[in-house]
Amino acid sequence: MTDLPYPRILVKVSGEALMGSEPFGLHTPTVARIARDLVAVRALGCEVAVVVGGGNILRGSRVAGEDLNRSTADHMGMLATVMNCLALEQAVEAAGEPARTMSAIPMPTVCEPYARQPAMRHLRRGRIVLLAGGTGNPYFTTDTGAVLRAAELDCDAVLKATNVDGVYTADPKLDPNAQRYDRITHDQALAYDLKVMDAAAFALAREAALPIIVFSIREAGAILAAAKGEGRVTVVAP
Ligand code: UDP
Repeated sequence: MTDLPYPRILVKVSGEALMGSEPFGLHTPTVARIARDLVAVRALGCEVAVVVGGGNILRGSRVAGEDLNRSTADHMGMLATVMNCLALEQAVEAAGEPARTMSAIPMPTVCEPYARQPAMRHLRRGRIVLLAGGTGNPYFTTDTGAVLRAAELDCDAVLKATNVDGVYTADPKLDPNAQRYDRITHDQALAYDLKVMDAAAFALAREAALPIIVFSIREAGAILAAAKGEGRVTVVAP
């Protein structure tokens, strides 16, 4: 445990990562692969919290409009994250580790309500804690929720799983000249307006001096490699 670079981590998994090759919703084999990766990290002795997004089902900013106000749309987005957490919870347990979903929006017949002390207890007992509902507030994202929970739960790093292998000067899918960073500071990420996370998330991470490890989740074992301090990653740190 003492050899681990980050003894307690918070992994941010976007809703899209759970979609696999599907155009919408959940791709069960992909959910199972990510669950196995989380279980492998746990087997290292690392304490693992996970914030799951909802973009594979609904994004508030996309569906809000004349007939649907933004707050309601964002509440729907937060509910989507609960569905994803429940799917991942079951997959983690099937892969052999106990898991608990805790929701920022209390729904006690579905899962536990989020509170810091019980979440810390679950982590100390070795349970993988799946944090649903983002921050519990509209106009935020699950990236900000991830940094917030990581700070609250005394995590040593946020592992931000994305579709690309780090942070680039521009979107590498759109710009062939985009340059990749091995390491940047929170200040630089904010100043260069890098889109890998929203500004609120970077600002909070800077305030809490929390490192963010950005990596691609496309390959099996990517979370395990990042948790060991290996693999192709960008480190955002003071
Ligand atoms: N959301 C919210 N507050 C939060 C976190 C999420 O209102 O604190 C809503 C918002 O509508 C967002 C949706 O939930 O679009 C899904 O979250 P996100 O877009 O962050 O998911 P991801 O892109 O990671 O799949």
